Amino acid sequence: MDASIADEAEAYVRGLLSEWLDPDPGECLACYLDRALERHRCAGDLALAEHYRDVAAPRATALVERLESMGGFCDCEVLCNALQPAWHLWSTSREIEIDGREIVLEAEPPPSMPPCTGVRRGSTQPCRNWHTMRRPARYRGR
Ligand SMILES: [Zn+2]
Ligand SMILES: [Zn+2]
Repeated sequence: MDASIADEAEAYVRGLLSEWLDPDPGECLACYLDRALERHRCAGDLALAEHYRDVAAPRATALVERLESMGGFCDCEVLCNALQPAWHLWSTSREIEIDGREIVLEAEPPPSMPPCTGVRRGSTQPCRNWHTMRRPARYRGR
C-alpha cells in the first residue's frame, strides 16, 4: 500500500479518536467513563467504553458483551447498572432525631469520585473505587 495513503488514513482515524477524551495511563474503565461522561454526553451506545478498550485494552475483545451481560447497554448504564461506587466511599446510614422522631438517613453514594487507584495496563476491571453490582439471586440462571 502507498505509504502516504496509509499515513493519511491513520491521521484520519486519529482525528476521529481524538474527539474522545483519552484514558490516563493506569486509569480503570469505570473511572474513565465517570470522567469522560462529564465531558461527553452518553450517545446511547458503548462508544466511550470501546474507545477505552481501543486505547488501553485492545485485547479485551469481549468487553462489550460482558458489559451488556451486566446490564450496561450504553456508557452511562455501565456506571448505574453494572458498577457502583465501592461501599467504603458511601456515607454511612445513620439515625437522627427531629422533634422526638427517629429518622433514618440512608447511605448515599459519594458526590464525586476520588482519583482512580489504578489498574494494570490491559485490564478492563474497575479499580478499588468501584464494585461490580450483583444481580439479585432470583434473577440468576435465567
Ligand atoms: Zn447511556
Ligand atoms: Zn478507577
